[in-house]
Amino acid sequence: MARAREQIITRFAPSPTGLLHLGHLYAALFACDLAAKHGGRFLLRYEDIDITRIREHFYTQIEEDLAWAGLTWETPTLRQTTRTAAYSDALEKFKSLDVIYPCFCTRKDIQRELKSITRAPHGADGSHYPQTCKKLTPPEIQQRLDDRLEPSWRLDSARAKELTGDLTFTDALHGQINVDHTLLGDLILARKDIGTSYHIAVVVDDAFQNITDVTRGKDLLESTHIHRVLQVLLELPEPRYHHHNLVCDNDAERLTKRNAALSIQSLREQEISKESLIELAHSQLR
Ligand code: GLU
Repeated sequence: MARAREQIITRFAPSPTGLLHLGHLYAALFACDLAAKHGGRFLLRYEDIDITRIREHFYTQIEEDLAWAGLTWETPTLRQTTRTAAYSDALEKFKSLDVIYPCFCTRKDIQRELKSITRAPHGADGSHYPQTCKKLTPPEIQQRLDDRLEPSWRLDSARAKELTGDLTFTDALHGQINVDHTLLGDLILARKDIGTSYHIAVVVDDAFQNITDVTRGKDLLESTHIHRVLQVLLELPEPRYHHHNLVCDNDAERLTKRNAALSIQSLREQEISKESLIELAHSQLR
């Protein structure tokens, strides 16, 4: 794909479900610096689809922390909660391609089913969904819907592979990668409570915002396999990827929002300078 003269557009996409920590700051700077280096644009997008976990004050705090670190971004910022119609359209498209199926399983059902299978297919982070609901017949599905059971929707990863054929994506740091359609099994693309998922929202909005370069932590490298599949199914352009190292704590564990001591807010309260913070983030990269 020739993109020689295009303008680079990057984004930082935090979820306003907690305070930013050093890892977020590193990710935001990575995206912002990449755009700046190429005279490009840098956007801030709120991944706030999980309305059960977001809190209004975190939007403000995120902006305060980023501004304190010297970052600037284009306004208005995009909130994914304003984009539900676009995610529903994507879901409809998947239904029309017959590449997703409704799933009525509870977590308990899945655990029970997995226990009963001696050799469940394993993914990197545990067992894949045992495809129980893939076997449901149309009348069985109708019966559940008549009983007012709300389904989630899962990717039929085998059908997706049939539809897209072999795919690759290119990561600036990891090179060319062959897509494994089944890496995450038949994962959920639309949760029953919120009607969508990170995977749908991220590919739809990266395309909507013309993001040319997706930068994020290498913990999301596996998700990118699925994002490439969804992009092809939705006929969306392919961005370049940069999966960077992660800022870790002293035990080499990736930071999470539970590491309150390393939140930007608490580090700022200790009057640590922006420069030392950035240095600290770099020294903890793994
Ligand atoms: N909201 C995601 C995060 O906090 C962003 C993932 C992405 O950039 O695709 O890690």
